[in-house]
Amino acid sequence: MENYYERIKSAERIVIKVGTSTLTHKTGKLNLRRMDKLAMTLSDMKNQGKEIILVTSGAITAGVTKMGLKERPKEVRLSQAAASVGQCELMFIYDKLFAQYGHVVSQMLLTKEITEDEKFRSNIINAFETLLEYKIIPIINENDSVAIDEIVYGDNDMLSAVTASLLHADLLIILTDIDGLYDSNPQENVDARFIPVVESIDDAIEAVAGDSLSGVGTGGMITKISAAKVAVSNGINVIITNGETPEKLYDILDGKPVGTIFAAKK
Ligand code: GLU
Repeated sequence: MENYYERIKSAERIVIKVGTSTLTHKTGKLNLRRMDKLAMTLSDMKNQGKEIILVTSGAITAGVTKMGLKERPKEVRLSQAAASVGQCELMFIYDKLFAQYGHVVSQMLLTKEITEDEKFRSNIINAFETLLEYKIIPIINENDSVAIDEIVYGDNDMLSAVTASLLHADLLIILTDIDGLYDSNPQENVDARFIPVVESIDDAIEAVAGDSLSGVGTGGMITKISAAKVAVSNGINVIITNGETPEKLYDILDGKPVGTIFAAKK
């Protein structure tokens, strides 16, 4: 069988998606140590000559905490406000951390409507290509203060897959709170078996992707599998793995078996 992890070593353009559960503590405050490790590792990958695009979640949770709200609001306008406050906080911290490691970041807030519109899409691509040409690390989130109802992706898994496809990335890494895909929920079933390689996302794979148990993010394993399906069909390899230790990204680039790899369709 082909060693799929070997393929990854040559990836040049890499989209990394990091979920709310990886970026925040249970208190709803930012996990600064983890964000620092992530910024250092991504900066170092950039120093190795890779093109890095970061898709971040965490804005709503950070905003909810900063506004002193007791829980994630159900009221849409409050959620919009929280996203606006939290996005600012997130970027402030990212800017500081990446600057510490000698890198410039930029903010790109996208919506489903924008990525689906042909004209807007080419504007986005131009902006991204220019940022990358200038060795900048674009940091993307959905524009949750304006994207509501039918124009929303709602989870950043699909947003990361669409962005990776628009930019013809070589690799999409989805960092989450579980090591990868299991054949049943490992938190409920001690016999759950890890699936290291998925050659084709068929009905059986979609069936085993029960919701992951994270309380803070919006996506479960199902949204990640749907995102992986889009990316692999656009020729992009996908890895879903645990974001707990961002330094594991080095192992991925060394071709070591980390997480579940979904092989790109050739
Ligand atoms: N865009 C949302 C935020 O930044 C997160 C969506 C998701 O959890 O995937 O709060």
